[in-house]
Amino acid sequence: MEAALSPDTAEKTRLFAALEALLGARFTRNAALREQHSHGVDGLPPKLPDAVVYAESTEEVARVLALCNEAGVPVVPFGAGTSLEGHVIPVRGGISLDLSRMKRILEVNEADLDCTVEAGVTRQELNAHLRDRGLFFPVDPGSECTIGGMCATRASGTNAVRYGTILENTLALTVVLADGRVVKARRRVRKSATGYDLTRLFIGSEGTLGVITEGTPRLHGIPEATAAAVSPFATLAGAVETVIATIQSGIPVARIELLDEVQMEAVIRYSRLEGFAPAPTLFLEFHGSEAGVREQAEAVEAIAAENGGLGFRWAVAAEERNRLWKARHDAAWAALALKPGYRPLTTDVIVPISKLTEAVLGAKQDIEESGFTAPIVGHVGDGNFHSVILVPPDDPEALERAWALDRKIVARALALGGSASGEHGVGLGKREFLLREHGAEALAVMRTLKEALDPRGILNPGKMLPD
Ligand SMILES: Cc1cc2nc3c(=O)[nH]c(=O)nc-3n(C[C@H](O)[C@H](O)[C@H](O)COP(=O)(O)OP(=O)(O)OC[C@H]3O[C@@H](n4cnc5c(N)ncnc54)[C@H](O)[C@@H]3O)c2cc1C
Repeated sequence: MEAALSPDTAEKTRLFAALEALLGARFTRNAALREQHSHGVDGLPPKLPDAVVYAESTEEVARVLALCNEAGVPVVPFGAGTSLEGHVIPVRGGISLDLSRMKRILEVNEADLDCTVEAGVTRQELNAHLRDRGLFFPVDPGSECTIGGMCATRASGTNAVRYGTILENTLALTVVLADGRVVKARRRVRKSATGYDLTRLFIGSEGTLGVITEGTPRLHGIPEATAAAVSPFATLAGAVETVIATIQSGIPVARIELLDEVQMEAVIRYSRLEGFAPAPTLFLEFHGSEAGVREQAEAVEAIAAENGGLGFRWAVAAEERNRLWKARHDAAWAALALKPGYRPLTTDVIVPISKLTEAVLGAKQDIEESGFTAPIVGHVGDGNFHSVILVPPDDPEALERAWALDRKIVARALALGGSASGEHGVGLGKREFLLREHGAEALAVMRTLKEALDPRGILNPGKMLPD
């Protein structure tokens, strides 16, 4: 399929002239802008796109894709470039199609608890827009990323345990196919039983099946009461057992996040948190009525006490809560600050909740045996956790050992019935695990879908499906 891509320079020259005529200065070959679009937040080798295109409407995206498809030139959609697995690296050159200027909030339907926005709106921009209406959009990766990028990577975050991921929080999409056709995937209703569910097909397709230009996220009412707590533990096992018992008891926690002692130390240092100790710790949040929040919190506090919890430290005032969650969201930067100049290799496994202890303690032992600094942090209420393996620069042998550690952690998660990625996605970094996780037949179906929707293979080639 990829042989159809045209390396023909004359063809590219004609394409670039056509794109410049269409977009003016929003088609650029500027070196600094190409560099900025040559990588995400990953340690993988960057590659320059031939050019960067800034689109401002669905119609423009359709025109750009039709031209690129005709010329057989690759197109890599680009949101905020915060993905962690080499997703946006244009490994076969071509155009980096930047959607970040598509920032219109097209409608907010307060009565239906949904809205429609262009792909370049970030989650923070959407929430700032909604705040005065008493509504919020709950999906919260620890980065400033776009709705289009979140849909494309099937993202989630700390709130997913209560509110779901971007998948459960997206009603409809507008998607441009490789040849420029525009598809409206589903309507803004809570459920629908007509046709194949194209919204679900495009969510998590990482720019390989189409370019998302609009999304219709679900919204939620800001809860009447919110309380956050931080709970240190004597042991990592005690913290994980508390999570499992909390979820199995059906307590509707809004957030339950694990930081091991290495990550906790990094966060304390990076975010200057005072009065906290570098111990395995849970960050918790409860939403509901005043009475409901109290009841949930008391139930979790009792479970924690049975598992070696060293007491809850409460944060009820909004300012203190925001400071804590900002520190949690900055955990990745805090981890990087432990070893300045080192490259991150991030694991992102997820297992069924009953297997969480085995998965986390196994990963911890692997890390200790490896000798790497690799803090563990995770959205453990979903069974999902990360370790950020810090790899010294320009040391191929260390990089190879880091990949071996990643493979070991993933192999255990797969053996426990889990997945190689709970939220970051496949990109380049996790391609090797797809066959083991899904099997040959499921992979063949995925290839059939890719070939049907993108027969010339122009959309983000070299990603997701293994060669
Ligand atoms: C500090 C930090 C913390 C993070 N925490 C989390 C977390 O808690 N949870 C989580 O899920 N992720 C997390 N991430 C990863 C990242 O933020 C998410 O994957 C995010 O969804 C990527 O969005 P983006 O706009 O940056 O997309 P990009 O990185 O620009 O693109 C990601 C992929 O989507 C494709 N794409 C982008 N826009 C479109 C579009 N409009 N149409 C079609 N394809 C498109 C790209 O081609 C690429 O394959 C974190 C990253 C960082 C740096």
